[in-house]
Amino acid sequence: MPVSLYKANEIEKEIASKWKRENTYEKVKKASEGKKPFFFMDGPPYATASIHLGTAWNKIIKDAYIRFWRMQGFNVWDQPGFDTHGTPIELQVEKSLGFSSKKDIEKYGTEKFIKKCRAYATKYIGVMSKQFEDLGVWMDWKKPYLTLDNHYIEGAWFTFKQAFENGYLYKGSYPVHVCTRCETVVAYNEIEHKTVTEKSVFVKFPVRGKENEYLVIWTTTPWTLPANTGVMVHPDFDYAYVKIDMTGETLIVAKELADNLMTEVVETGNYKITKSVKGKELEGVKYDHPLKDLVPALQGMERGHRVVTSSRFVNLDAGTGLVHTAPGHGSEDWQVGRQEGLPVISPVHLDGTFTEDAGEWLKGRYTKDTDPMIIEKLSERNVLVGTQETAHEYPMCWRCGTPLLSLTSPSGSSR
Ligand SMILES: [Zn+2]
Repeated sequence: MPVSLYKANEIEKEIASKWKRENTYEKVKKASEGKKPFFFMDGPPYATASIHLGTAWNKIIKDAYIRFWRMQGFNVWDQPGFDTHGTPIELQVEKSLGFSSKKDIEKYGTEKFIKKCRAYATKYIGVMSKQFEDLGVWMDWKKPYLTLDNHYIEGAWFTFKQAFENGYLYKGSYPVHVCTRCETVVAYNEIEHKTVTEKSVFVKFPVRGKENEYLVIWTTTPWTLPANTGVMVHPDFDYAYVKIDMTGETLIVAKELADNLMTEVVETGNYKITKSVKGKELEGVKYDHPLKDLVPALQGMERGHRVVTSSRFVNLDAGTGLVHTAPGHGSEDWQVGRQEGLPVISPVHLDGTFTEDAGEWLKGRYTKDTDPMIIEKLSERNVLVGTQETAHEYPMCWRCGTPLLSLTSPSGSSR
């Protein structure tokens, strides 16, 4: 047929009604009964809205695939499914009720809220099934599996129990990205990054047992300083001992970044490099955390507050070549911390506020809001080298746009 005569709309309608009239789908299924089985369980889309091009494309490919096996004479189990659980549905319902935090759900009544979510998801199961059927997808639309069905939930727990009984489960701790608005962990592939400009700080950590000698670290997240338990250096980089004439202080920084730090941050030209060592020679150097007396979580730490080496996570792109390490607030920090035996602390609740382990001055405050308080305290104690406005990539919740925090669940004990 010439292309100009091909009328997709009409042909689709005609074929759909022919399939319906002649029960073609049912006949095909019947004809393959007793034959070799082929199992297809659909990966379920979220029942949150009408289908979009992505979901349509996905189903069309699957439809072609299972048709192929049918034509090969297989008895195809073709069950679609719908994901009806979790944050995407909750968020839609929260929006419709005008909620601003998860606490609003408790005020509204959890049971009532769950019913609303169930009704919302159920409505879209109907809408989406109809749309997939209209696309001509041959799946068993009368019998989808739903993640809200008790037998499905029991199946999930049964599987989990098997893993437990076979000893495949253990309780650990690992920093994960948390949305403090949704009060939930956000999966790695769900994270969106946005460039934000924030105040970064250069901080002096006094070297233990030395007069006027400091390790200088740099961080774009001052609120993570109360969880600092180490400093990373690169074993092969050169580190300079820079003596400032006016104060008599010696700052330890990567040699390549020393001039920049002095002119741009300290703003002095009167200094000299008195000695230079390789990073590995700094390994094991101990320092006193300048906020230790204010933060209970930092106290009584035997293996913390020392220099460790990493050739993977230290670079000279920015900062000082000495990396502030808070193993409770970042996966790179965690990896190195675990390897080097640094303590992991994360004195922060899931809603982003500090716990009492961060001390009375921070307790109950939202972490990111305390940056100015922390900077002021560092300045008061004469350990603030300087600040700089820095544009950097920050992870955001794709659902609600809240900046994500990297936190370690305090309930887990590490193995
Ligand atoms: Zn969120």
